[in-house]
Amino acid sequence: MSLGVYIQVPFCQTKCTYCNFHTGIVSSPRFAPYAAAVQTEIREHRSHLSQSGVILPDSVPSEVVDTVYFGGGTPSLLDPAHLAAILNSIRKTFRCDLREVTLEADPETVEPRKASAWAAAGINRISFGVQSFSDLELKAAGRMHRRADVYRAVPILHSAGIRNISFDLIAGLPHQTPDSWRNSLDELSVLAPQHVSIYLLEVDEGSRLGSELLRGGAKYSASAVPSDDVMAESYDLARTTLVAAGYAHYEISNFAKPGFASEHNRKYWRREPYLGFGAGAHSFSGTQRWANAHDAAAYVQSMAAGKNPIEQLEAISASQALEEELFLGLRQLAGIDLGRLQDSYGVSVEDRFTSLESSGLVERAGSVVRLAPKHLSISNEVFVELLR
Ligand code: SF4
Repeated sequence: MSLGVYIQVPFCQTKCTYCNFHTGIVSSPRFAPYAAAVQTEIREHRSHLSQSGVILPDSVPSEVVDTVYFGGGTPSLLDPAHLAAILNSIRKTFRCDLREVTLEADPETVEPRKASAWAAAGINRISFGVQSFSDLELKAAGRMHRRADVYRAVPILHSAGIRNISFDLIAGLPHQTPDSWRNSLDELSVLAPQHVSIYLLEVDEGSRLGSELLRGGAKYSASAVPSDDVMAESYDLARTTLVAAGYAHYEISNFAKPGFASEHNRKYWRREPYLGFGAGAHSFSGTQRWANAHDAAAYVQSMAAGKNPIEQLEAISASQALEEELFLGLRQLAGIDLGRLQDSYGVSVEDRFTSLESSGLVERAGSVVRLAPKHLSISNEVFVELLR
């Protein structure tokens, strides 16, 4: 096993209408103190963990860190020197063999100087929040970039030597139609990223669009959000298009060309340990989950004052761990080995799958069960039934 490191950068240029993440729009002078605070937290993390009652399994402290993920927010807003300094702190604090270092980026933030500096710092994978190739949809969603920015950014990354690129697309944005969705998939195929994530628009009432969807209004184009049925068809079209184009569908939302599945995100789905640093960052040791306080300004102050940023700590019981195995295991298209679960947890979960199997929602091969490919778009209903 190895260890993943997640760095949370909770800053954005604007707030997308569908977003309810804990991100702030701050002026750039706030970035350097934040990056310094993250470095302090990395250096001091062992004392924070012991103060908070985190007990790392014996194996974790000696693990080699092989993946780092800068997420947000929009971490590509930071000066590349800040990202390089954070990576150097990781290298100095942990045993490292950094095989996959991902930076989430908005396409309009990419420029040649930055891309070269990212590559020099060791960043070798860029995850783009493309979301759509329709400027009408991007504008309505409050995104800063436009279709042309994606076409401009990809060659810049290639010139800098970064060839592992992932695109996110969202099915269900306001003004999206079956034709515009098909066009976004076609344009994605032209640029041929190594990895693709397809998300369905989530109605979160804490977002401005979600609030309008639930309570009415005309400011955020809620009335132009496609129906659930159209979204499900969009997901199915994406799946068939991407599989035909040579992508392996390896997780409900994720597709990869051979050899380009996200090693960092796989740790989450496989319940492998990861340490998160930064305001609101989450961590998992195998037996405990914990999280830092969300407020970025308070986080910077607490790091400067030598305080502990950890706010929540939860011990994971055996039954919780089993539920997580079921939920996360089924998200992976390879499925779950029920024999392994029985060996690990000493209980049989066979009968939980009986009705799902007879209704065709899951498929079985020996001791392995997996979601039936034609029902992937209604996976949430399967999870509700399974965890009931
Ligand atoms: S860029 Fe991402 S994190 Fe920032 S507001 Fe938009 S959706 Fe939210």
